[in-house]
Amino acid sequence: MSVQSTPYLIVGAGPVGLTTAIELNRRGLTPLIIDNDDIPTSESRALAIHARTLDIFEPSGITGRLIQAGNKINGILIRKNQRTRLHLNLNDLPHHYNFILALAQSRTEEILIDALKEQDININWHTSLTTLKNTPSGFLCNLQEKEHKKQITTKIIVGADGAHSTVRKALDIPFDGESIDDQWSLADIELSNWPHPFDQAVLTLTSQGPVAFFPLGKNHGRLVSSHKDMLNNLPEGMKIKEITWQSSFKISYRQVLNYQQGNAFLAGDAAHIHSPAGGRGMNLGIEDGATLAYLLSKERQDKYTQMRHPIGKQVLQFTQQQTKQITSPNFAFDFMLNYVAPLALKIPSIRSKALAHMTGLDTPKPEWL
Ligand SMILES: Cc1cc2nc3c(=O)[nH]c(=O)nc-3n(C[C@H](O)[C@H](O)[C@H](O)COP(=O)(O)OP(=O)(O)OC[C@H]3O[C@@H](n4cnc5c(N)ncnc54)[C@H](O)[C@@H]3O)c2cc1C
Repeated sequence: MSVQSTPYLIVGAGPVGLTTAIELNRRGLTPLIIDNDDIPTSESRALAIHARTLDIFEPSGITGRLIQAGNKINGILIRKNQRTRLHLNLNDLPHHYNFILALAQSRTEEILIDALKEQDININWHTSLTTLKNTPSGFLCNLQEKEHKKQITTKIIVGADGAHSTVRKALDIPFDGESIDDQWSLADIELSNWPHPFDQAVLTLTSQGPVAFFPLGKNHGRLVSSHKDMLNNLPEGMKIKEITWQSSFKISYRQVLNYQQGNAFLAGDAAHIHSPAGGRGMNLGIEDGATLAYLLSKERQDKYTQMRHPIGKQVLQFTQQQTKQITSPNFAFDFMLNYVAPLALKIPSIRSKALAHMTGLDTPKPEWL
């Protein structure tokens, strides 16, 4: 069996692996990237692209393409009992990208793959990492490429291989946390009626739980509900013409304590998973990948866990808190929503802080940006 060698092996060509590859290559370090799928995902999955992600992709010329392909969300409406209780105007964000960009993950990945191709890097599809051994001269990786077995040695391996990460399991790194039993549902829908503008995300708090609609453009978008039977708990005024994709999920909160073991690194869902509240997951992972590439280029990779673990922990706790608040509203939450928040948001410093929380600008800015 032939043994190939590469200085940097990235396992997983999801948004995080693709970002790591783009950022490494932009900094003069050429990686090899593999993925066990035959093709990129066709599912819409993560939709929210935050301002910092757009900052990260600016130097590689990707930001403009994402903005051109996506739908700008300029505000968030929180509604209850047929009334808008709170309107968060994202244009008040103190950032040049003062909106959330809505784009299906499948499209985001396509744009990242095109950018990698332009950098002369091709993804090795249908290539799966099966086992991994740490040897004195580097990692010995066993790969399954269609029917063929292959071995690769590498000094540095990046596990961007998602929540069920093979790299994490091979290194025996615990993924501690909890899984919540409740089943949530989501659907991509075409609408025949919707009373709100398509540049506003709408969170409706109903007696049966929260329902969020995130527009991907005119008359279509994503519906997410804590209710199993979401079609029987639609927001008022919504009429669905067609469901184009439907799925369900359970929420887990898990994070590794150490994002690295020697020269093996974990990034994205391989290192942390949490509630989709606030659309933070993909953005957090993209920031992991870009930070790791930066540190590797400076030979400061020993700082990776120290930089990324506290940020991951903060986001995990924040999404947990947000999810609890909207799924089990109580008198205090209602009072805050109806009386305290509308007044408090009139104060510019409080408004900026609230908007930063909603858009992922509440964590320290990566040092190279
Ligand atoms: C149905 C669904 C809906 C979602 N909705 C949202 C949402 O609304 N908002 C949000 O923020 N997030 C959402 N997410 C989560 C979001 O998709 C992830 O946070 C994001 O994809 C993480 O990116 P990643 O690159 O870390 O991992 P992934 O996207 O999971 O990519 C990992 C890649 O690694 C590959 N791989 C795995 N094992 C191996 C191996 N052994 N060898 C080679 N390749 C391997 C996989 O094929 C995959 O392509 C959703 C996820 C799902 C599944």
